Amino acid sequence: IPAITVIGAGLAGSEAALAAARQGVRVRLYEMRPVKMTPAHRSGNFAELVCSNSLGGEGELQSKGLLQAELRSVGGAIVGAADASKLPAGNALAVERDEFSARVTRAVREHPLIEVMGEEVTAVPGGVAVIASGPLTSDALAADLARLTGSERLSFYDAAAPVIAAESIDLEIAWRAGRYDQSADYINCPFTKDEYLAFFGALEQARAHTPHDWEKLEFFEGCMPIEEIARRGVDTPRFGPMSPKGLDDPRTGRWPYAVAQLRREDREGRLWSLVGFQTGLKWGDQKAVVQLIPGLGDAEIVRYGVMHRNTYLNAPEVLDSTLQLRADRQKFVAGVLAGTEGYLESAATGWLAGTNAARLARGLSPLTPPAESMLGGLVRYLASANPKGFQPMNVNWALVPELPAPEPGPSGKVRKLGKREKRPILFRRGLEAFGAWAQDELGLEVTARVIPE
Ligand code: FAD
Repeated sequence: IPAITVIGAGLAGSEAALAAARQGVRVRLYEMRPVKMTPAHRSGNFAELVCSNSLGGEGELQSKGLLQAELRSVGGAIVGAADASKLPAGNALAVERDEFSARVTRAVREHPLIEVMGEEVTAVPGGVAVIASGPLTSDALAADLARLTGSERLSFYDAAAPVIAAESIDLEIAWRAGRYDQSADYINCPFTKDEYLAFFGALEQARAHTPHDWEKLEFFEGCMPIEEIARRGVDTPRFGPMSPKGLDDPRTGRWPYAVAQLRREDREGRLWSLVGFQTGLKWGDQKAVVQLIPGLGDAEIVRYGVMHRNTYLNAPEVLDSTLQLRADRQKFVAGVLAGTEGYLESAATGWLAGTNAARLARGLSPLTPPAESMLGGLVRYLASANPKGFQPMNVNWALVPELPAPEPGPSGKVRKLGKREKRPILFRRGLEAFGAWAQDELGLEVTARVIPE
């Protein structure tokens, strides 16, 4: 029987091992806990949830809801264990964490094709392998991975700025331009003095009640959190990342008092991140502060800023959408290490990496899910995002193609669909495409192609 290696029995590695085993491939799964612990895990259980106990919002209005449905339709182990350990939590898939981990651990340990090795892996192994050692990958393995991919492509800190959905940016206020005569690659949000002072006040307030975990990190001057920059004085942000220099506001013909700039995160220009706004502010505060930026009053934040230790690869430089390393196509990467963020995203990329690694071991070619599916959208993003300052990504609706423009009505006007109308259509389209792909291309038995009520 063909065999593969999986490193790490976290969210991604457990799912990868079970997905590969389901394809009839033998798996040797390495997990270093409890022999060697990470700074965040507390037990030796597989798929331990290190922080919140939620796998994200459920249902057809939620991007995580679509990803859950896709994984459910192919018998995903993590989402299956979550469903079986579910706690009441409104519209979120929250779980009883010990029961959840125990279920995953049992499924892995009892699988006849999976052999569990309780030891640390210190070098990338030969043969077909899935590397899913997570945000707290041990030092020795990280060093070897850096050797394989190039050290500048492996990050150890995540100092991320909020990412905003383009459709929620008010372009009546903000405008496209580059500084001086540079190309118009940025969206610029102009502040008057009063607006700037109100924004600064909110930033100071928010900073006062935010835990400072990130202060233990060493920063390069270039990725200092915005709240830390603000601590140095009221004018420091506007002489730093919020400088208005070279930006003529088309409404006034002059430089504003300060400017917040957004840089594109994806090729299509549907996701934009705030330049120089890496932040460790609590999410509620972060939203309040961001929405005080002129033009971002209704901003939809698809990924919040974070400051924490995080080992991840610059996915667009090193990975294909099949999750294969370009430097060694027998190696697959999944979870946070592959540039995703979130329990569910880790499980989903684990499923794809395990499935594709098993296919490769069986002499079949690895595949990419359809673009309309949330998993397909995510892995395509990983392989094609802007590599400059790349940061791990959560799933969100901007990762899947827009719906075709609606036909004009009898009056000749085009009625734009609202989120609540659009998302259920995107959800059904994605689940249908994913199910058809899994059945026809992977030959899997697919359940629930029709969404349960
Ligand atoms: P993990 O689940 O961490 O699995 C990796 C496994 O590999 C671990 O079991 C580890 O022990 C093992 N390992 C590491 N190195 C080796 C080695 N050399 N040899 C053998 N085994 C090894 N996401 C959310 O959705 N919600 C949250 O609330 C949340 N909170 C987080 C809090 C912290 C402190 C961190 C660091 C991350 C958080 N995340 C959260 C992000 C992410 O979703 C989780 O970290 C998730 O567990 C990542 O899944 P993974 O499979 O990539 O890594």
